[in-house]
Amino acid sequence: MTLLFKCDHTDLAPWLAALAEQLPDHRIRLFPEVGAREDVDYALVHAPPPGLLASLPNLKAIFSLWAGVDHMASDPELPRVPVIRMVERCMTASMTAHVVRQVLNLHTQAIDYRAQQADRHWAQLDLKAPFERRVGIMGLGVLGRDAAEKLAALRFDVAGWSGSPKAIAGVACYHGEDGLTDFLARTDILVCLLPMTGATRGILDRSLFARLPEGASLVNCARGGHLVDEDLLEALAEDQISSAALDVFNEEPLPPDHSYWVHPRVVVTPHIAAFSVAATAIESVAANIRRIEAGKTPLYVVDFGRGY
Ligand code: NAP
Repeated sequence: MTLLFKCDHTDLAPWLAALAEQLPDHRIRLFPEVGAREDVDYALVHAPPPGLLASLPNLKAIFSLWAGVDHMASDPELPRVPVIRMVERCMTASMTAHVVRQVLNLHTQAIDYRAQQADRHWAQLDLKAPFERRVGIMGLGVLGRDAAEKLAALRFDVAGWSGSPKAIAGVACYHGEDGLTDFLARTDILVCLLPMTGATRGILDRSLFARLPEGASLVNCARGGHLVDEDLLEALAEDQISSAALDVFNEEPLPPDHSYWVHPRVVVTPHIAAFSVAATAIESVAANIRRIEAGKTPLYVVDFGRGY
């Protein structure tokens, strides 16, 4: 069997080693060396050029190297085979660590204490126990659910919001448009872990911020397009939002003159919340290939009708 690999990582060695180890019976073709197109059974890709995948007549499945598939959804010629997003344990663990870090920083008022230290100013700010802090996770998929469970284990008062109903121990679950207002009204720290779809683009806007308690905080580690930047800056200026930790941006890299860089109440990280490690990513791809070869339905297939 043959797998076409298109990867933008600068260090390909661990990926090629993991592919050789986990898929020893596969020939690996490294893009742009496609070779005989009819040989290719699987494609593992990031940002494939439009038409590349459609030119592979015997393709059985497409694996995305990224969790999101927005990098390939714009290809109008995507073949009618399962498109599988990247779900792997390193990515989940790193996202949860990022979310927990940002929530703890916001909960413990790290921005304020940092500023006080710069001024050599000793003042004990309003102290709250974790169970007095209401965290709300938008998106209870693979990443949102894990983050919600770990925050609940740290004794935060955690709720989540999703498209369909969920039941997660220790997490108050809301869903759909009907559940959104109540979910927002009880959220002090809002974490966005939604996929980027037509329904979620620009969801973090002025009208959503107005439904949060005054002084709530925002963590966006999903996609920059979820956030309306002007609305956040306005909400920060009005203290409707007290602080924000942003990992993803409408324009990446964040332009040097963007006001987020110097905003005293915004923490910027350069899209590093979650990442894949070759060994665990290829382990996940190989397990799904074995499922397909055994005639089973693959896991984590994207539903382009829903957009994720
Ligand atoms: P997922 O498993 O597909 O989960 C998506 C969740 O969002 C589901 O709970 C889904 O509801 C919910 N949802 C989708 N559309 C909705 C809507 N219109 N209203 C309410 N809920 C909606 O996704 P995931 O693997 O957890 O990943 C989430 C996102 O994280 C990715 O799409 C990507 O953008 C982002 N990400 C960022 C980084 C980074 O480094 N910053 C890294 C990896 C991923 P249902 O449960 O009802 O389907």
